Amino acid sequence: AKYTKQDIIDIVQDEDVEFIRLQFTDIFGTLKNVAITSSQLEKALDNKCMFDGASIQGFARVEESDMYLRPDYDTLAIFPWRPQQGKVARLICDIYNPDGSPFEGDPRYILKKVTKKAKDLGYTFNVGPECEFFLYHMDDDGQPTTITHEKAGYFDLGPIDLGENARRDMVLTLEDMGFEVEASHHEVAPAQHEIDFKYDEGIVTADNIMTYKLVIRTIAKRHGLFATFMPKPKFGECGSGMHTNMSLSRDGKNIFADPSDKFGLSKEAYYFIGGIMKHIKAITAITNPIVNSYKRLVPGFEAPVHIAWSAKNRSPLIRIPASKGESTRIELRSPDSACNPYLALALCLAAGMEGIEEKIEPMESIDINTYDMSEKELKALNLEELPSNLSKALDEMEKDELLRQVLGDHVFNIYLETKRKEWREYSSQVTKWEIDQFLYKI
Ligand code: GLN
Ligand code: MG
Ligand code: MG
Ligand code: MG
Repeated sequence: AKYTKQDIIDIVQDEDVEFIRLQFTDIFGTLKNVAITSSQLEKALDNKCMFDGASIQGFARVEESDMYLRPDYDTLAIFPWRPQQGKVARLICDIYNPDGSPFEGDPRYILKKVTKKAKDLGYTFNVGPECEFFLYHMDDDGQPTTITHEKAGYFDLGPIDLGENARRDMVLTLEDMGFEVEASHHEVAPAQHEIDFKYDEGIVTADNIMTYKLVIRTIAKRHGLFATFMPKPKFGECGSGMHTNMSLSRDGKNIFADPSDKFGLSKEAYYFIGGIMKHIKAITAITNPIVNSYKRLVPGFEAPVHIAWSAKNRSPLIRIPASKGESTRIELRSPDSACNPYLALALCLAAGMEGIEEKIEPMESIDINTYDMSEKELKALNLEELPSNLSKALDEMEKDELLRQVLGDHVFNIYLETKRKEWREYSSQVTKWEIDQFLYKI
C-alpha cells in the first residue's frame, strides 16, 4: 500500500485540504460522491461513513438500505481545479454491508474478486484504455448541443483544431492528478478527441477511467465546451470508442509476448483471445451498455461489427498492435465509454482466464477489411457478428453462465431488468426518421 491512515491525515493537514469526496461507481457506471469536511476524516478512514443505498439505482431496497463506505487509502488525489486554499481531495471507496461483508452489487468488488482469482494463479492483469470524446457547444441556456464549428480531422492541429487549448488543460490536469499521459490528439470526426494514459493494473485503470471522465467533463466546461462520451452522437460520423488494450504479466514479465511466433504472441495470448471471443456476444451487453452504443457498431467507421481478430486491419473486434516485447498486447475495440469499466474489465479478464484454463483456440486471423466483404464471403469465413442492438445483447447475456457467475445474481438480475426496460422505452419512441420516411406516403 502507498499510504497509511496517518499518511492521509498528514497530507490532508499539510496540503490544507478542507473537503474530502468519498466516491464510488454505481452498477450503471455513474460516478457518485458524498463530501465530508476534514473534521470527519478519521471517522471516514475508520469506515464509519454511511449512505442510503436505496437512493442509488440498483443498489438496495428501502427496508435494508444502510451501506458503508470504505475508503481505499491509495486512491487519495487532490482536485487541481478546485480552490488551492481549503483544497478538495477524493478517496475512492469500496461498499460494505452493515454486517461488515462486502456488498455484492459493488462493481469495484466484482473486479477485485476476478483480479484476485487471476493473482492466485500468478497473473497480473494490465489494461490501457483509449477513451474518445466530443467537445460540443452549449446553448444560451447552458444546455449541451451537438453543435461544433470545427472541421478538423485525425491528427490535425491549430488553427483548424479548435480543441487544442482545452485538450492541453485536460492533459495538465490529469498529470497533476498523477496520470502518465502518453498521447493526445484530434480524432477522425470534427470536434472529436482522444487522450491516452499509461496502462496499469485493472483496478487502477478502472478507477483512472472514472477520474479521466470527470476531468475531461470538468475542464471542457471551464472552456465553455461540453464534453460527451456518448458512443454515437451523430449519424454518418465516427462514434467514440474505448479501445481496451490488455495483457497479462507474471513476475513482472509480459507473458503475452513470444518472439518466435509469427504475430509475436504466446499460447496464453491466443487462448485469452479465444476466451474473449467465446463470450463477446454476452459481454457486449456490458461493454456497450446503452441503446446508442449499437449505432456505433456499424460498418465504415473503424468500429467492429464482426467477431474476428487481426494483426493488421482495424475493422475486426480484436487487433494486435505492432509493438512487441514488453508492450505486446491485444486491443479489444468494441467497448465504449458508456460502460461501467469495473464490470467490463472483470468480464474481459474472466473470459480471457477461461480461455487459458480451457485452452480455447481462437479462429484464424482475418487480415482483410471485413466491412468490404459480401454476405457470401462472410458466410464462407464463418464470421459471426456482434449483437446489433441492446435487446439482442441482453438475450446473449441472459444465456451466459460466466456472466452470471462473475457479476453475481444481484448485478446480473438488476442489470437485465433495468436494461430491458430501457430497451422497451426506446423501442416505443416515434422517431424523426419514421416521420420523415412514412408520414407523407402512407
Ligand atoms: N472512433 C473509432 C471507434 O469508434 C476508433 C478510431 C480509432 O481510434 N482509430 O472505435
Ligand atoms: Mg488511439
Ligand atoms: Mg482513437
Ligand atoms: Mg486504438
